[in-house]
Amino acid sequence: MAKQKQLAVIGLGQFGRGVANTLLSQGHDVLVIDKDPRSVNDYKEFATHAVVADATEESKLSSLGLTNFDYVIVAIGEDIQASILTTLILKDMNVKKVWVKAINKNHSKILDKIGADYIIHPEKDIAKRLVRQLLHGHILDFVELSQDYSIVELKSSKKINKKTVEDLDLRTKYGISLLGIKYEGKIDINPSPGFIIEPKNVLIVLGHNKDIEKFKEAEL
Ligand code: ADP
Repeated sequence: MAKQKQLAVIGLGQFGRGVANTLLSQGHDVLVIDKDPRSVNDYKEFATHAVVADATEESKLSSLGLTNFDYVIVAIGEDIQASILTTLILKDMNVKKVWVKAINKNHSKILDKIGADYIIHPEKDIAKRLVRQLLHGHILDFVELSQDYSIVELKSSKKINKKTVEDLDLRTKYGISLLGIKYEGKIDINPSPGFIIEPKNVLIVLGHNKDIEKFKEAEL
């Protein structure tokens, strides 16, 4: 099993709670922080640590040992100023990875400038994912590496039933790489050319979105 991570979530609004609950349910160490004692109270029993603090107070934030954490997620929503100030303090403290929720374009631009390691756009991200799922039945999951490149999990199809990896020849035909094949709860990383594909398999491919799309249209 992967090593459990140590994370902190600052701001327990709807988004922060969703993130904290998911992390906790997966067994990670989670410190939750909010300036509102009522929100923190809900986590007293449940989170690894729950602290009432105003994250814009530098001394308070630096007393929490966040530099040793793997990730700190800033989920302060509407109060853009507090979100920015908190991010600035965390980056100044040399926290390894600061992920921040942005609520609009300007917020996102500033976060980028002050060194946020990853900017989350929850509504936009969910909308994109949903549209992809609606439009492309075969896509099970995807990770966007950049605007153009993704890693995508594709459900195999009857059309390619019993073809081998070599027959598919994804690299030559479409310029995409087959990273692995999932089946029966297992994953075969770098499957051999002779691997025979069945409809129940899931193909994990990496490539330009347009090339992945071409492959999907032609073969799935
Ligand atoms: P969402 O849209 O995800 O529900 P909200 O803006 O409603 O987000 O909630 C943000 C949370 O962040 C609230 O629980 C609020 O008390 C908390 N918060 C806001 N400012 C600070 C701050 N300076 N320090 C700590 N927590 C804060």
